[in-house]
Amino acid sequence: MKRSLREKLHTEGLRCTQPRRCIVEALESGPKTHAELLKLTGLDRVTVYRNLLALQQIGLIYRVYLTTGEPYYVLCDTENPSHAHFFCESCHRATCLPDETVQVHLPWPGRVERVLLVGKCAKCA
Ligand SMILES: [Zn+2]
Ligand SMILES: [Zn+2]
Repeated sequence: MKRSLREKLHTEGLRCTQPRRCIVEALESGPKTHAELLKLTGLDRVTVYRNLLALQQIGLIYRVYLTTGEPYYVLCDTENPSHAHFFCESCHRATCLPDETVQVHLPWPGRVERVLLVGKCAKCA
């Protein structure tokens, strides 16, 4: 597990438990479904589910729903919470986009919390 990820867990008040480490390490190689995480980590369903929830609440991972199949869990490895994400629907790779890539201007006062773009990456396009 990368040091930055470990630090993020600590600053958000989550202990770096064995299951959390296993899940984050499994996601370091790319987005995974719940079923893939079960197989890779050897943890039980409830443990995986609960820890995915906790990791989502602190913004360390996010979930991507595609039109078919199970959602993917993706690791977000950056300090800045307000960037957009790109998810390739063909190869299921994800990227944290630089801040300037997407700027949303709402027609009313408010704040955009999350922006997720789904499409095809350079390899799959
Ligand atoms: Zn990100
Ligand atoms: Zn792709």
